[in-house]
Amino acid sequence: MSERMIERDEATQNWLKDSQVNSIRSRIPPKGQLGPEDCQECGNDIPMKRREHGYELCVACAERRERNVGR
Ligand SMILES: [Zn+2]
Repeated sequence: MSERMIERDEATQNWLKDSQVNSIRSRIPPKGQLGPEDCQECGNDIPMKRREHGYELCVACAERRERNVGR
Protein backbone atom coordinates (compact mmCIF):
# COMPACT_ATOMS: atom_id res chain seq x y z
CA MET A 1 0.00 0.00 0.00
CA SER A 2 2.52 2.58 1.14
CA GLU A 3 4.93 1.57 -1.62
CA ARG A 4 2.37 2.48 -4.23
CA MET A 5 1.98 5.90 -2.73
CA ILE A 6 5.73 6.50 -2.87
CA GLU A 7 5.79 5.51 -6.53
CA ARG A 8 3.01 7.91 -7.26
CA ASP A 9 4.84 10.68 -5.46
CA GLU A 10 7.96 10.12 -7.55
CA ALA A 11 5.93 10.19 -10.72
CA THR A 12 4.42 13.49 -9.69
CA GLN A 13 7.83 14.95 -9.00
CA ASN A 14 9.15 13.81 -12.35
CA TRP A 15 6.14 15.30 -14.04
CA LEU A 16 6.71 18.61 -12.27
CA LYS A 17 10.34 18.61 -13.39
CA ASP A 18 9.33 17.93 -16.99
CA SER A 19 6.71 20.64 -17.01
CA GLN A 20 9.22 23.13 -15.64
CA VAL A 21 11.68 22.31 -18.40
CA ASN A 22 8.91 22.60 -20.95
CA SER A 23 7.86 26.00 -19.66
CA ILE A 24 11.44 27.24 -20.05
CA ARG A 25 11.59 25.96 -23.61
CA SER A 26 8.18 27.25 -24.58
CA ARG A 27 9.12 30.76 -23.53
CA ILE A 28 11.47 31.22 -26.48
CA PRO A 29 10.62 34.48 -28.21
CA PRO A 30 10.31 34.72 -31.99
CA LYS A 31 13.52 34.29 -33.95
CA GLY A 32 15.41 37.08 -35.64
CA GLN A 33 16.00 39.11 -32.51
CA LEU A 34 19.36 38.89 -30.80
CA GLY A 35 19.37 39.19 -27.06
CA PRO A 36 21.79 41.44 -25.18
CA GLU A 37 25.45 40.46 -24.82
CA ASP A 38 25.29 40.49 -21.04
CA CYS A 39 22.84 38.96 -18.63
CA GLN A 40 20.32 41.54 -17.45
CA GLU A 41 20.61 40.27 -13.92
CA CYS A 42 24.21 39.30 -13.14
CA GLY A 43 26.08 40.80 -16.10
CA ASN A 44 27.65 37.53 -17.20
CA ASP A 45 28.14 36.84 -20.86
CA ILE A 46 25.18 35.14 -22.48
CA PRO A 47 26.08 32.29 -24.85
CA MET A 48 25.44 33.17 -28.50
CA LYS A 49 22.98 30.30 -28.78
CA ARG A 50 20.82 31.85 -26.08
CA ARG A 51 21.10 35.33 -27.59
CA GLU A 52 19.91 33.96 -30.91
CA HIS A 53 16.73 32.96 -29.11
CA GLY A 54 16.34 36.41 -27.65
CA TYR A 55 17.16 35.51 -24.06
CA GLU A 56 18.11 38.37 -21.77
CA LEU A 57 19.35 36.18 -18.93
CA CYS A 58 22.17 33.69 -18.59
CA VAL A 59 21.30 30.06 -17.90
CA ALA A 60 21.75 30.35 -14.14
CA CYS A 61 19.58 33.46 -13.78
CA ALA A 62 16.88 32.11 -16.07
CA GLU A 63 16.68 28.93 -14.03
CA ARG A 64 16.57 30.87 -10.77
CA ARG A 65 13.81 33.09 -12.10
CA GLU A 66 11.84 30.06 -13.28
CA ARG A 67 12.03 28.60 -9.80
CA ASN A 68 10.86 31.81 -8.15
CA VAL A 69 7.96 32.12 -10.56
CA GLY A 70 6.94 28.52 -9.95
CA ARG A 71 6.28 29.14 -6.29
ZN1 LIG B 1 22.86 35.93 -15.06
